Amino acid sequence: MASVFTKIVKGEIPCYKIAETEKYFAFLDINPLKEGHTLVIPKQEVDYLFDLKEEDYIGLQLFAKYVAEGLGRAIECERVGTAVIGLEVPHAHIHLVPINEINDLNFANEKLSFSPEEFEAIAAKIREEIPGN
Ligand code: AMP
Repeated sequence: MASVFTKIVKGEIPCYKIAETEKYFAFLDINPLKEGHTLVIPKQEVDYLFDLKEEDYIGLQLFAKYVAEGLGRAIECERVGTAVIGLEVPHAHIHLVPINEINDLNFANEKLSFSPEEFEAIAAKIREEIPGN
């Protein structure tokens, strides 16, 4: 069965899209640790990040850099932190989280909730900072 992220890529379930290329896709995490928490994925459904072919892994990391640069411009933060967990959704993904302190990247923290309008406004703010979007 297709992963929830494959369904997002195919437009079968909605998301707050941030950016897309031929091979990669970025969208807001629906249970964010911080405002702007973004997931970056390969469109190809591979469960474990480190099972990606070398060129796809490098391509994903470059796409993550491009998205993180826009995210850092859009959301005031000290750094854009990055993490790979992958225990919940079996489709490789990189978390990009705007952080100001180390505890901001603690996945045991309570998640934030935003209305659909707030999520869309956050996504639009980030998209504006990503060239070519
Ligand atoms: P993990 O696999 O442990 O890295 O966690 C998967 C992440 O995907 C979690 O942070 C979830 O909030 C997020 N997630 C799961 N389903 C969706 C969805 N439909 N849209 C956006 N984010 C999602």
